[in-house]
Amino acid sequence: MPQRVTQLAAALAAGLIIWIVSTGIAFPPPASMSGSVASVPATSTTLPEPTRTILPTLTPPPTATGYLEAPSLTQAVIEPVDVPTATPGPIYQPTPDAQVGRRDAVLPILTYHYVEPWPADASPLRQGLTVKPEEFAAQMAYLAEHGYTTISLYDLVDALATGRALPDRAVILTFDDGYAGLFDYAVPVMQGFNQTGTVFVITEFVDQARPEYLSWPELRFMSSLGWRVEPHTKTHLGLEGMSYQRQLYEMLGSIETVEANLGQRPRFFNYPSGSYDDTTLALAPELGLWGGVTTRGGWYHRYADRYEWTRLRITGNTDLLHFIEMVEHGR
Ligand SMILES: [Zn+2]
Repeated sequence: MPQRVTQLAAALAAGLIIWIVSTGIAFPPPASMSGSVASVPATSTTLPEPTRTILPTLTPPPTATGYLEAPSLTQAVIEPVDVPTATPGPIYQPTPDAQVGRRDAVLPILTYHYVEPWPADASPLRQGLTVKPEEFAAQMAYLAEHGYTTISLYDLVDALATGRALPDRAVILTFDDGYAGLFDYAVPVMQGFNQTGTVFVITEFVDQARPEYLSWPELRFMSSLGWRVEPHTKTHLGLEGMSYQRQLYEMLGSIETVEANLGQRPRFFNYPSGSYDDTTLALAPELGLWGGVTTRGGWYHRYADRYEWTRLRITGNTDLLHFIEMVEHGR
């Protein structure tokens, strides 16, 4: 009776699955993602996938500004974490003092793109752009456990111009393009470690409410947590070789769109694909920008280089040891 045998086999298989699930015997015990630094070993590769449920109780952005309410998030209280908190950066452009030419800062500005699970059909390019949530969590845990304070580009330009002290171990986390997955996979983890980042948005894609990009309400919410939202042009076309008028459109347009939606003039620019030229560099200060970041590798920063600061790129293939090497040694 082949049919009966098949049915029996199916029934046994179903029973086995139910038994395994009910006993939990085939699965590791669930790890706790409490937000405690000590509970996340730097070498762990089995961190649970972060979800919105690990967000701490958060204060919504002030409604007095007239902006939209923050998106509703599932909220759960997590243990406070004892890591340093960065002080807010300056509101006014810092005036360089007489020592500015002698000052430098050696610190990693890390570049991320997507933080989310690799899509099933991800091309090698997409995989390279995508840091998996568990690897990202391990990287953030490493920074927290090893005394790193996340600062902003505002803090860096202030320190270089005026000599204001930076934390001993400062790091700047930048996220290019403003992908939606950050809201689920980067923000909650970083919030648990008192870390903030800078997200560079392509304003026309946000205006078009493309689902793969963060929305203005989400960006306002991140801003209320201390994140910086900065422009990355309107359409993400390379600026190099473009006419003055078109560069003005891409740069000023995205600056003013961010300002209109966040209520604060953004001061740092990110050139798409690291593509810019002398026209870009002449426009940047005219448009009220205080600095800009490139795709070139490096971690040595000076005030004179502020429109061409270098960064260190974290890819989907950067393992934790390589991450540590980059953060600790700039390579
Ligand atoms: Zn980009």
